[in-house]
Amino acid sequence: MSRPADPDVLVVGGGIAGLGLAAYLRRQGVRPTVVEQAPDWRGSGYGIGLWSGGLSVLDDLGVLDAARQRGADPDGFEIRAAGGDRLARTDLPADRTLLLAVHRADLHAALREAVPEPWIRMDTTPTRIEPTAGGVDVEFDDGTTGAFDVVVGADGVHSTVRDACFDDWTRRARDTYVWSLWAEQDVDVGRDMVSVWGPGSEGFVARVGDRVGLNLAARLDHPPEPPARAELRRQADRVGWRLPALLEGTDDDPFFDRVREVSCECWHTDRVVLVGDAAHAIHPISGMGASLALRDARALAGELATARPGRVGPALARYETRRRDEVTRVKRQAAFEAAVTFLESAPLRRLRNGIVRHTPLLELFVKRELADS
Ligand SMILES: Cc1cc2nc3c(=O)[nH]c(=O)nc-3n(C[C@H](O)[C@H](O)[C@H](O)COP(=O)(O)OP(=O)(O)OC[C@H]3O[C@@H](n4cnc5c(N)ncnc54)[C@H](O)[C@@H]3O)c2cc1C
Repeated sequence: MSRPADPDVLVVGGGIAGLGLAAYLRRQGVRPTVVEQAPDWRGSGYGIGLWSGGLSVLDDLGVLDAARQRGADPDGFEIRAAGGDRLARTDLPADRTLLLAVHRADLHAALREAVPEPWIRMDTTPTRIEPTAGGVDVEFDDGTTGAFDVVVGADGVHSTVRDACFDDWTRRARDTYVWSLWAEQDVDVGRDMVSVWGPGSEGFVARVGDRVGLNLAARLDHPPEPPARAELRRQADRVGWRLPALLEGTDDDPFFDRVREVSCECWHTDRVVLVGDAAHAIHPISGMGASLALRDARALAGELATARPGRVGPALARYETRRRDEVTRVKRQAAFEAAVTFLESAPLRRLRNGIVRHTPLLELFVKRELADS
């Protein structure tokens, strides 16, 4: 039951950040309105490696087990060179989940367990968002209207809320494209999560039960026509290892998209605020976008809980202050990882591979994750 002083919250977008936020608000006794443009939850998606920052939020929300049942805890994390030569491997802890391999749709399904279905209005999107002296007036594409104290843009890379209410932002399309296939396979890929570094490309492979997930990202000079299967095959052949065999095993159309990054000077106004990819989409190579989205949700809900009736602005500002530093650090790290991973020059790749093979970089990364968790 919402109390009279609780804010009326509209969450635009029922993705990872939107559902995370709705679940936290529910725990605080606030019932938000969530609108989602998709008519249903069927849709293609991609494999996600969710690290400890995001897993701790799932734990907090009581859906970690639901996510784990749908995903897999890899035994280790390994990096291979094109062709499959192993450059580095590190064990992941056996007694707890530090990294979960899961399909985005399954992560989403786990989060849905924490949000009552009637709270989500499917097939609905705002057509007008108008901040007023006392709140925000919103019109929806089904002809309905609503008045809210705060509107949250959790609507991803192509955010409508960001378009409507914020000026100082950029969405940068990279020269990198990503495919994802997730199918029943008996190809032996082991029980580790594997990153295979091709020339200007990366294959990311994990087994989850009967299925194997493959994400393949590659830098390309010209955008291919979706779903670009011929280009996918060419890239898989260049990366090698088990990738060509994994492609043999499925006729499904892959998920295919261009990598885009979002930078926003400011994520809030007095009554409108952005979370997740809408505020700061980062290169997927980082494997951190979903964790950031979930941690944004936790921080924003926490600040809204302390907001004074009718005055949400300071809470939105505090949310942004709490989240900026981590997002900036992860973005910087993602840019570095992308530069190192998508190298095309053969001598530079040899040099990089030698460094990764002969130094404990991967162990140090996993140790840091363990310390953070
Ligand atoms: C190929 C790929 C691999 C990735 N791998 C990883 C990984 O390994 N680890 C990791 O942590 N992250 C990964 N990410 C990033 C991660 O998926 C995103 O950062 C995360 O999903 C962001 O969550 P979000 O809720 O902000 O956006 P989304 O999950 O995109 O959700 C946005 C929601 O808003 C809805 N929506 C959009 N517009 C509107 C509108 N106008 N009205 C109503 N609803 C709307 C959409 O339908 C969607 O449901 C990957 C991304 C890609 C593309």
